[in-house]
Amino acid sequence: MRELLRAELRGLTAYGAPQIDVPVRLNTNENSYPLPPHVAQAVAKAVADEVTGLNRYPDRDSVELRKDLADYLGHGLGADRVWAANGSNEVQQQLLQAFAGPGRVALGFGPAYSMHPLLAVGTATTWVDGGRDGDFGLTASRVVEQVRAHRPHVTFLCSPNNPTGTALDPAVAQAVLEERQGIVVVDEAYAEFRRPGTASALTLLDRYPQLVVTRTMSKAFAFAGARVGYFAADPSIVDAVQLVRLPYHLSALTQAAARAALAHAGALLETVDELKAQRDRIVRELREMGLTVADSDANFVLFGRFEDQRAVWQALLDRGVLVRDVGLSGWLRVTAGTPDETSAFLAAMKELA
Ligand SMILES: *Cc1c(COP(=O)(O)O)cnc(C)c1O
Repeated sequence: MRELLRAELRGLTAYGAPQIDVPVRLNTNENSYPLPPHVAQAVAKAVADEVTGLNRYPDRDSVELRKDLADYLGHGLGADRVWAANGSNEVQQQLLQAFAGPGRVALGFGPAYSMHPLLAVGTATTWVDGGRDGDFGLTASRVVEQVRAHRPHVTFLCSPNNPTGTALDPAVAQAVLEERQGIVVVDEAYAEFRRPGTASALTLLDRYPQLVVTRTMSKAFAFAGARVGYFAADPSIVDAVQLVRLPYHLSALTQAAARAALAHAGALLETVDELKAQRDRIVRELREMGLTVADSDANFVLFGRFEDQRAVWQALLDRGVLVRDVGLSGWLRVTAGTPDETSAFLAAMKELA
């Protein structure tokens, strides 16, 4: 079938971290804590209550869920400025379908989230990588220069950035927005984990109608298996993605589960402080081992530098600890887990040092 495949897809590998069954899985930035029992029960009841009505299509526009998400975000947002889909990957795909596509350009700044260029390929959008500074930093001047050079229809910024972990000053997003060049997507999948002092790009929404801030329930909310992502933006952007979304894209079960989870947001987010403490512990202890470690505002840490990161990845796996080789020569990424998981990872690293 290779010759029948679209030329730009030939030779590509599908997105996918290995799903290997080992005791300590710290490779996909999920929340290591299962749902607390009372929240699990509430979600199960909400889903059960939907089952009899599954003969009917769900609310196509997920209005109640969008209202709940808007309330969670605050900043005076309402359902008309929030859109939800099966993971923030899907909302980002919808944004590219509506605002990019053949003959159009999307700009990102790698190393960043590897799905952004893949979503561009899938929507036949030309992808341009504007790069980063040597220390993985991203300055307003670099971003503006790249925007002027490539005139993108969609610009992706990632804050906190995956895989480096560091949050982006909203002033950088603001500098791009001042260029009035296409829409600007700030991917804030890890926003709930950021250290005090870095504002969310949500603070810029009222001033810039071309800004989209994407979020997810997959990380801090411990809800990755349910597949719920969303964005906040101007109502005209919410209208635009409705032109390209599949009808009834978000199942009644997903909508009900997400609403029940959001009703217990406080309980679900209780683990965030513990995970941040483990993250800070990883940064500290790896630095004590003499490694180079990027500052992290997320629930993961990028560390190196290794002559052969693949060998270190394998040595950790041999000790029952799965981390992520993000394809960045010399570096590995580890998710902050429970105290026990974190201890297992750090003990394995000490053995290797
Ligand atoms: C994990 C992650 C997402 C989340 O994707 P979902 O589809 O919502 O699970 C989005 N952006 C980044 C940068 C991520 O790391």
